[in-house]
Amino acid sequence: MRPYFDAERVLHDGVLYAASTLYGLTFTERTDLVAYHPDTRVFEVAGDEGEPVGLYVLDLYTRDSKRGGAWMNPLVSQSGLFGTLPVVVNNLNVSKPPAGSPTLLTLDEVTTMFHEFGHALHGLIARTEYPYFSGTNVYRDFVEFPSQVNEMWLLWPEVLEHYALHHETGEPMPADLVEKLTASEGFNQGFETSEYLAASLLDQSWHSLTFEAASAVDDVAAFQAQELAAAGLDNPAVPPRYASTYFAHTFSGGYDAGYYSYIWSEVLDADTVEWFTANGGLTRANGARFAERLLGVGGAKDPLEAYRDFRGRDAEVAPLLVRRRLQ
Ligand SMILES: [Zn+2]
Repeated sequence: MRPYFDAERVLHDGVLYAASTLYGLTFTERTDLVAYHPDTRVFEVAGDEGEPVGLYVLDLYTRDSKRGGAWMNPLVSQSGLFGTLPVVVNNLNVSKPPAGSPTLLTLDEVTTMFHEFGHALHGLIARTEYPYFSGTNVYRDFVEFPSQVNEMWLLWPEVLEHYALHHETGEPMPADLVEKLTASEGFNQGFETSEYLAASLLDQSWHSLTFEAASAVDDVAAFQAQELAAAGLDNPAVPPRYASTYFAHTFSGGYDAGYYSYIWSEVLDADTVEWFTANGGLTRANGARFAERLLGVGGAKDPLEAYRDFRGRDAEVAPLLVRRRLQ
């Protein structure tokens, strides 16, 4: 698929185009502003009326001194108290092409660009008084939700046809390729959902024990088996993704009693995608509602309250089950 994913097009005609249509933002590259490395690019972000919103810094390419993976971090958080506008950075680890060739992305890299830009939007659209609550300063089980929602625009027809053009011929991506991609979303989801839920419930089991009760567990395997059986997930063909003895997320990764966050974010995400889809998709009005009621409030409001403000009800699990072809 790479010939259809020219990074410049993905950025301008995909990621930024979707954000402009939804949130009324414009992005102007400022080549006169130098960030922390020559590879980084700085964009001035403005709103509907041309008012300044903040700066977006893109650090796309891998290099020896950069850690792996992809992430967003705010260099300056928006704050009413201090009158600061946000400066946010997106980091990826895309390989540089040979000189003179375009950067052609993989599907995973395109997904990552939309995902990380969802975090960037959370930081840019923030309008809280205190920087402590600004943008992505929300609970761990909520922070991935806006970024996952932003991934929906990758395959949204009017966005896809706008950016996914063959870098040499200008031909749009063939429809059967797009159909195959969509069809593959349900692949192996029975296994993956079960092994993930088993690990999430195991995480809850361990962290629900008192210190005394945990100290009294002398057979870790037996405790794990008992807890999985109690949850109805003691299927030998589908063991938990991480067994207790190598469950780094929960014992040293900062996800203690929080490993469920991934799927909970996706419950909110799928329910939100359903709302956008039912309400006309990529429109300024839909973006305004999501921005005002959800992205903008950051951590200053209880996340479930913000979600209800936006969605008009609590999240439901059915859209996720449909997405995973489990219902
Ligand atoms: Zn993320």
